[in-house]
Amino acid sequence: MVISRGEVVSYLSMCAEEGVNLQRGMNYRLRGDYSVLLMSIRKGAPYADRIEDDGTVLIYEGHDLQSTKGGPNPKTNNQPMTNPAGGLTQNGLFYQAAIRFRNGHPPELVRVYEKIRAGVWVYNGVFKLEDAWLENSNSRRVFKFKLTVTDEDLASGDSDTDIEHTRLIPSGVKLEVWKRDNGQCVRCGSRDNLHFDHIIPYSRGGSSLVAENIQLLCARHNLQKRDRIE
Ligand SMILES: [Zn+2]
Repeated sequence: MVISRGEVVSYLSMCAEEGVNLQRGMNYRLRGDYSVLLMSIRKGAPYADRIEDDGTVLIYEGHDLQSTKGGPNPKTNNQPMTNPAGGLTQNGLFYQAAIRFRNGHPPELVRVYEKIRAGVWVYNGVFKLEDAWLENSNSRRVFKFKLTVTDEDLASGDSDTDIEHTRLIPSGVKLEVWKRDNGQCVRCGSRDNLHFDHIIPYSRGGSSLVAENIQLLCARHNLQKRDRIE
C-alpha cells in the first residue's frame, strides 16, 4: 500500500500500513529507520499539538507519565524523560533524536497521522524532527517537539525537499470539508480511499487554509485530476 499526504485512513488501515497495532501516540523507530506520531488538535484532545507557519511546522507536545492506580496524577506532574527503571521514555527518545540533529546529524524522519474525528484519521505525511525543548505549562514541565513538513521519500532517503509544494491543511479546515462533502468523493460518492485534494494546487497559488479550495476525492478521481494537471 502506498499512502500519500492528505489520505483519509481508518484506524485499522493505519495499523496495517505501519504493520503494528498503534497503541500510543509516540512511536520512536517503530519499524526500521523512521518514527511515527499520532496527533489530534480536536477540541478536548489530550495534548496541545499545533500547526504553525502557514502549515509547514508542527509543534507536538510530549506525553504524560503513565497513569497508575494510586500513583501520581499524570496531568499535574512533569512529563518524564526516563522510565522508573532508568531507560528513556518516548519523550526522551524523541528529545535525544532532536539533540542529535542540533549537533549536525541528519534529522529523524517521522510519519504523522492526525485524528480529525472518531474513526477518521488523515495521513499528514513525512516530517523532519528539528528541535525539542521543555516548557512550563500549568505549573509543570512538558516536552515540545518541532517538526517541519518535508517531501523527503522514506524509502529512497532522497533529500529532494520541495517545501514550496507542501502545506498541511489545518485540522479545522479538514473537518469542515469532511462535513460539507459528507465523508464521500464529490465526483462519485465513494467512501473508500478518500483524499483531501487542493482544488487549485498549492504550487499554483491555491490556498490550504480555506475549505473553499479543498475537496474530498476518491483515489480514482484524485489520479484522474492529477493526470489532467500534469
Ligand atoms: Zn470518486
